Amino acid sequence: MKWQDRGGSSNVRKSGGKVAGGGILGLIIAAVLWLVFDMNPMTAYQTAQSVTASNGAEVQPVSEMDNDRDTRFVSVVLADTEAVWHQIFQEMGRTYKEPELILFSGRVQSACGSATSATGPFYCPGDQRVYLDTSFFAEMRHNLGISGDQQGSGDAENQDKAGDFAQAYVIAHEVGHHVQTLLGISQKVNEARRQLSQTQGNELSVRQELQADCFAGVWANRNQQRVQFLEEGDIEEALNAASQIGDDRLAQASGREVVPDNFTHGTSQQRVNWFVRGLESGDIGRCDTFSGAI
Ligand SMILES: [Zn+2]
Repeated sequence: MKWQDRGGSSNVRKSGGKVAGGGILGLIIAAVLWLVFDMNPMTAYQTAQSVTASNGAEVQPVSEMDNDRDTRFVSVVLADTEAVWHQIFQEMGRTYKEPELILFSGRVQSACGSATSATGPFYCPGDQRVYLDTSFFAEMRHNLGISGDQQGSGDAENQDKAGDFAQAYVIAHEVGHHVQTLLGISQKVNEARRQLSQTQGNELSVRQELQADCFAGVWANRNQQRVQFLEEGDIEEALNAASQIGDDRLAQASGREVVPDNFTHGTSQQRVNWFVRGLESGDIGRCDTFSGAI
């Protein structure tokens, strides 16, 4: 996948994670506890850490300083989704509202509750942000059996390229959930779920997931028309990812912790089918996963 020559989005943010607890704010609070409240310095430090950590995300714009490969990549893919979805919304006579993407390490606070790296990538409708932990790419290379971190084998650039479209696909899928939120689809699904049994509700959620896959396919089609970014093997890569990564989380606002839904994302074949349908058509009208068989 070609991405190096395109500009990035201004909507990528970094959340301090562990750093938040040990940052300047933590030190100031510790000093106050120690000097003003006469607390034992070590206890003061630990208290300050826990206070600032639970205070949640110190979300900051990404600066030039921390523009590592993964951050730049995420930023370009997010910009690609913005360009495509602005265009599609305009065609529908609507306005696309860009989501923010939060890169975090360790733990993060969202409107859907707090999450850790173990939660996996997720979209929170409550704050309209996509959350991605920084260990995600390495883990994905590992899960897909891509030898990105094998030492001394092959050249770095080729290893770096391995799996990049699969990574983009996952981001596009999460942005797909954002599109569902903007179009009011997610709200309808949530309302409908309240009237349904657990099993029926889960089936509806599977349909919602498959639509996000289809939207990711639509994005790939339209982005290809726009910037010809696909390279040989990319589609196979995404299909492989679609069939192997059933692990994203559409977070629901329910208490302190992000509660991953305990439904499947559909079978591998269903995921591949809907991605391909979006990819071949470039038309979200082909992404009605809610009526008929899936
Ligand atoms: Zn999803």
